[in-house]
Amino acid sequence: MPSEPIRNTTARWRALDVRHHLSPFADYKSLKQDEGGSRIITQAEGIYLTDSEGHRLLDGMAGLWCVNVGYGRAELAEAAYRQMLELPYYNTFFKTATPPAVELSEKLAEIAPEGLNRAFFGSSGSESNDSVVRLVRRYWNLRGQPEKSHIVSRTYAYHGSTMASASLGGMVGMQEGFGLPLPGFHHVMPPYWFDFAEAGETPADFGRRAAKAVEDKILEIGPDKVGAFIGEPIQGAGGVIIPPETYWPEIQRICSQYDVLLVADEVICGFGRTGRWFASEAFGIAPDLMTLAKGITSGYVPLSAVLVSDKVGEVLESGEGEFAHGYTYSGHPVACAVALANIALIERDGLVEKVRHETGPYLAECLQSLSDHPLVGQVRSFGLLGAIELVEDKASRKHFEPLGRVGTLCRDHCFQNGLVMRAVRDGMVLSPPLIIETAEIDALVETARRCLDLTAKDLGIA
Ligand code: PMP
Repeated sequence: MPSEPIRNTTARWRALDVRHHLSPFADYKSLKQDEGGSRIITQAEGIYLTDSEGHRLLDGMAGLWCVNVGYGRAELAEAAYRQMLELPYYNTFFKTATPPAVELSEKLAEIAPEGLNRAFFGSSGSESNDSVVRLVRRYWNLRGQPEKSHIVSRTYAYHGSTMASASLGGMVGMQEGFGLPLPGFHHVMPPYWFDFAEAGETPADFGRRAAKAVEDKILEIGPDKVGAFIGEPIQGAGGVIIPPETYWPEIQRICSQYDVLLVADEVICGFGRTGRWFASEAFGIAPDLMTLAKGITSGYVPLSAVLVSDKVGEVLESGEGEFAHGYTYSGHPVACAVALANIALIERDGLVEKVRHETGPYLAECLQSLSDHPLVGQVRSFGLLGAIELVEDKASRKHFEPLGRVGTLCRDHCFQNGLVMRAVRDGMVLSPPLIIETAEIDALVETARRCLDLTAKDLGIA
């Protein structure tokens, strides 16, 4: 007799999750004690998720900022299927390559900003940022300046979770207790006007001051020791921090003045998120290295890349010996085939233009309508990245204490009301799939307002 089939119920999955699954960025003790357990997501279509109990959720975060073309795109599944039958795997080590890896390298060179003509592949944003550290060191070794190994970054930066990428990042909670940052990684303040500006300081003045913090740090370490500066054009996981217009031009000037490589981490900002293929175009950044992941495959399979400028590439190609770095899955043929199909979809559906001319401006307008809410200290957006800052006092931009509690309250209301928004401290952040339509933005913002009201009610604010 065959044994009784195991029923796939929510209760069973939750029990297995607690017993056997260590999920990332989770509080294991409270998960164990939490009767509710994890939400189990079972299906998705377009911009909507379905959980194991049949609830439908509007995914205002595109997964983790990555499902740019939305869920359920058959073209991507078919590309993976075809490639798996043709050649499911082969490596790109030791003078081998595969058609999808080289075709994708060419396509990325075509859509990337001027001069970024070479790609080094990995499977995650973290891996690519680790590769950046290696590439920076290799570059300066070959230029005969091996002491230029230090890298400057910002607090609230997120560059990944491996030991080197978490060192590049500026999330203190990821570093304390882990011996991080590793030596040679330095952090300065982020271009976050809302939290860091002094009273009366204009965004333009603040942007220049935040850039000067980078210059001061380079001078403090010594320009002969600093090899690179890394930044997300818009800091995503740090709270959708959109820098003032004065910031990036200054950073560009500082990097060239001190011969410091400029690295743009476009893991979130790339592939149409900001209404350009890459946010570097929007901010006038000419990066020496650029990291990509997430939207490169819309999250359907893991893939990442470092795009390398001609300036760096030519030095790499002039050096003796091999670049002793790479991953089993660098240039994975299935992942690269999916990326090619994903880029083709973004092009065919005109998603970059849609965000730039239609849905980006529309989201900005709708978010603006929330400014009159008693909890809302600021709304900001750029393309389809948005943030709503919740504060105790609007005029002085004073946060509630303890920081993070009100954001969590609001996030939980959103979940209960069918909307996925993430809370970063007390900022509610948004990054919906790029296929979202204006009517769906209306629904999203309407639900957000309802959840802000519920949060205000919890706090006793009428
Ligand atoms: N860089 C940025 C800007 C990111 O937002 C992330 C992930 N949120 C990473 C790097 C790391 O990517 P991964 O989680 O794929 O390693």
